[in-house]
Amino acid sequence: ASTIKIENLHVEIEGSEIIKDFNLEINTGEVHAIMGPNGTGKSTLASAIMGHPKYEITQGSVHLDGENVLEMDVDERAKAGMFLAMQYPSEISGVTNADFMRSAINARREEGDEISLMKFIRKMDEKMDTLEMDQSFSQRYLNEGFSGGEKKRNEILQLMMLEPRFAILDEIDSGLDIDALKVVSKGVNDMRNPEFGCLIITHYQRLLNYIKPDKVHVMMQGRIVKSGGAELAERLEAEGYDWIKDELGIEN
Ligand code: ADP
Ligand code: MG
Ligand code: MG
Repeated sequence: ASTIKIENLHVEIEGSEIIKDFNLEINTGEVHAIMGPNGTGKSTLASAIMGHPKYEITQGSVHLDGENVLEMDVDERAKAGMFLAMQYPSEISGVTNADFMRSAINARREEGDEISLMKFIRKMDEKMDTLEMDQSFSQRYLNEGFSGGEKKRNEILQLMMLEPRFAILDEIDSGLDIDALKVVSKGVNDMRNPEFGCLIITHYQRLLNYIKPDKVHVMMQGRIVKSGGAELAERLEAEGYDWIKDELGIEN
């Protein structure tokens, strides 16, 4: 089993502190969810952990099985088995989806251990089937002209193809209709196993009806303010965030 451990993390953007004393530990085999109001720093946290240069980590640490993640460059983080599905995936013209995924897989493998073309195609067909994606997607340019829902599905396809040890999924539910939401959830649930840990970031509880988290954390003003089980998400759905703000004495 592996563990990702975030301790006392502080992150600044352009001089203002967005993440403050953030602490979280996730083991493989676990699915954690972070919920919180907009503007609370959820996407900032995800990007900072994955090494986005815009975010300055001023204090704290992130360790993957004792290895200092913050000293790794972005490629090294991916090679170590970390994966980020972004709230706003970018388009890459001139690169087909299949080519992109194959090179992403091979970039995470040692030289001489590249996936064979046959094996790759079989795997991609199988995963696209699970996600009810049309085969034509493999030959389309990455995210170019993809609808919001198609982009999300494609991010989950990447997740299933790359099989990372840890994934952070940032609002993979945003803009999805109920059918797409079910399919995307099926993909994530398919990934669940003792060698895979996952952090799901979501504004709404809806997604967590389909992907049952082991732990739920509420994030406000850049830190975790409450943790619990799946029932915490249900209470947030029913009552919103105000009761937590009241508990903490945060102004609405
Ligand atoms: P969430 O994902 O919880 O909605 P974000 O992490 O996107 O929150 O944003 C947290 C805060 O950081 C917000 O106040 C937002 O305006 C600010 N912020 C996020 N990204 C940037 C950026 N690239 N430049 C400046 N401010 C940013
Ligand atoms: Mg936001
Ligand atoms: Mg966000």
